[in-house]
Amino acid sequence: MSVTVRVPAKVNVQLGVGAARPDGFHDLANAFLAVGLYDEVTVTPADELRVTCSGPDADKVPLDRTNLAARAALALAERRGIEPSVHIHIAKDIPVAGGMAGGSADCAGALVACDALWGTDASRAELLDICAELGSDVPFSLVGGAALGTGRGEKLTPLEVGGTFHWVFAMAGRGLSTPAVFREFDRLTEGHDIPAPEADPSLLAALSKGDAEALAAALTNDLQPAALSLYPELAATLETGRGAGALGVLVSGSGPTTAFLCPDADTAAKVAQTLRDSDTCRTTRTAAGPVPGATVL
Ligand code: ATP
Repeated sequence: MSVTVRVPAKVNVQLGVGAARPDGFHDLANAFLAVGLYDEVTVTPADELRVTCSGPDADKVPLDRTNLAARAALALAERRGIEPSVHIHIAKDIPVAGGMAGGSADCAGALVACDALWGTDASRAELLDICAELGSDVPFSLVGGAALGTGRGEKLTPLEVGGTFHWVFAMAGRGLSTPAVFREFDRLTEGHDIPAPEADPSLLAALSKGDAEALAAALTNDLQPAALSLYPELAATLETGRGAGALGVLVSGSGPTTAFLCPDADTAAKVAQTLRDSDTCRTTRTAAGPVPGATVL
């Protein structure tokens, strides 16, 4: 017997970052949109905890107990006092270290899959609680759709979305570490007065109307200057996509994946082709959102 859970990637349509707190974390105002680019996590009973991974980026994924999917299984097993005897296989399609919450997706996926496999019957609230312990982006991978994350990003309020948004994602040649991008943010903003981050009302209105042009005008990412500082070549990727017809462009989360909001699926295909023909990215994917969060198949 095995259980497979499909989990989407996310793009941050707003990533508002506050000053570093005494605990080192930053307060965020984080508008997440789940997009149709998925990992699939399959769990099967085994003698002991084991992780395997397949897909184009598989060699970049750790297979020991630091893997976020393994950590989810361990966390649930520990709460229930049972052995985490499970083989977790990750069929990986979300870019690794790309700012699209791939590890968080696998974490939420493994949690839901183990809960179903072991019959532990955790409530939604308990699953969300475990997710929040495991990482700031993990609760959103569980719920999907669109949501505003506050605190470290883990306190979620669902957002209304009145339509489907079409995106192109350009994968970069190398990864960027999220902590390194936050450190660069701290360095670049040192001595500046940083206001508390707040959700942008025009962005929330654009989402609820399903208005791609208005959403494009409202896209913001406070981590973008830090990501561009660490990876200056991304500026050319953003320019190429804008020139090809994207309505709005931004670095996805902490990067280095770049995201291009398009008026429709045809334009997205054209923008993706232009980006692939340029030498400014490794590859591209098109995906629409919102889509549901972790789903048992
Ligand atoms: P975020 O958008 O949440 O900041 P990210 O998409 O930039 O994250 P991930 O793909 O989640 O980055 O991976 C970041 C690092 O986490 C990887 O470099 C890897 O070492 C580690 N990691 C642990 N578990 C996983 C996993 N299941 N999949 C991918 N990376 C993992």
